[in-house]
Amino acid sequence: MYLEKYDLAGRVAVVTGGGRGIGLACAHALAEAGAVVVIADVDPLVAASGQATLREAGHEARVVAMDVTQPDQVKEVADSLIAQFGGVDILVNNAGIVRSEVAAEEVADEHWRNVIDVNLNGVFWCCRTFGGGMIKRGKGAIVNLGSISGYIVNRPQAQSYYNASKAAVHHLTRSLAAEWAGSGVRVNAVAPTYIDTELLKTLEGVEVLKKDWIRDTPMGRLGQPEEIASVVLFLASDAASLLTGSIVLADGGFTCW
Ligand code: NDP
Repeated sequence: MYLEKYDLAGRVAVVTGGGRGIGLACAHALAEAGAVVVIADVDPLVAASGQATLREAGHEARVVAMDVTQPDQVKEVADSLIAQFGGVDILVNNAGIVRSEVAAEEVADEHWRNVIDVNLNGVFWCCRTFGGGMIKRGKGAIVNLGSISGYIVNRPQAQSYYNASKAAVHHLTRSLAAEWAGSGVRVNAVAPTYIDTELLKTLEGVEVLKKDWIRDTPMGRLGQPEEIASVVLFLASDAASLLTGSIVLADGGFTCW
């Protein structure tokens, strides 16, 4: 009665930025639960390497090149998947960038626009397009990748643009959840602590930063992509049938202190 709610057989799931990191772990979790998974990544080579990783684990995934900052491209991909499968049941808005560490007073126009474009605008374009299709079918589940940075201000690295983008993702999640609850579409988010992925490697002096972050975390460690994917799987599945507009913190207690 309970475990069958995690069965995603017959569902089609799109994971943006699914070629590596948290997105790839989400693709893995959704495939293991039986969904037809589509890895949508800006770089076809990264998407293909994610597909190969899944294949090694015994799962087939489709790949598609999609830049979430391009609404026309998002629509093209959605139309083609709807033509192919009849609809998309699950959308994981995972694509995101950080570009730390730049002090607010020194952030260039291009830098601010780029982070907001991927992390916020991209989430909205995908929600609008795939969510619109879900509304027509009267069902669907969207899971957005937020962050502890939507709740707290990270230290010591400066990243005002990232923090603002993730706080906006959280409130966009609640807004869409309220608008679409009557249409059978659930919209939730997961807010992870620091997760050991390539994204962190883009931060200068990350090994030193990690010591600060671990000290600030009650559990005394970073998270792993799989620990976020299991929350995404829950939110995407019927086990979360009463959840919409929830921002689920998966932070090892980081925000308790
Ligand atoms: P990674 O950098 O490891 O992976 C991000 C993926 O998104 C990459 O495959 C990247 O492609 C892809 N991507 C980037 N820009 C676009 C775009 N415009 N369109 C489509 N795909 C794109 O990141 P993580 O796995 O660490 O992070 C995933 C999500 O989780 C992000 O939203 C991030 O903000 C969030 N998060 C991460 C945390 C962490 O500590 N790692 C903590 C909290 C939240 P490419 O490789 O080609 O650039």
